[in-house]
Amino acid sequence: MFEDKTLVCKDCGEEFVFTAREQEFYESKGFENEPQRCKPCRDKRKAAARGPREMHEAVCAACGGVARVPFVPRDDRPVYCSECFAKMKEQEAAEAPAEETPSETEE
Ligand SMILES: [Zn+2]
Ligand SMILES: [Zn+2]
Repeated sequence: MFEDKTLVCKDCGEEFVFTAREQEFYESKGFENEPQRCKPCRDKRKAAARGPREMHEAVCAACGGVARVPFVPRDDRPVYCSECFAKMKEQEAAEAPAEETPSETEE
């Protein structure tokens, strides 16, 4: 039987619980090492592994404000700030109810 264990995160130094369930999971996977990091730090590293998102600034075509987009803005494509983009999405959704898009599966 496993028991919850308190470990210290290597990254932030905070204590976190390595639960009995997780220990069972680790054993079932044959992992020999205990987790080194708490969940938030693991998530952070995962996100970092995907590469930092480079943001580019452009002028929002709707409100004229600053729009930050994860791609290089091109002159022939209007760019919208997150607010206007969200508004447009709402409108789109209201006009044509979108089908449920399957959410991305993680690993
Ligand atoms: Zn941490
Ligand atoms: Zn805008």
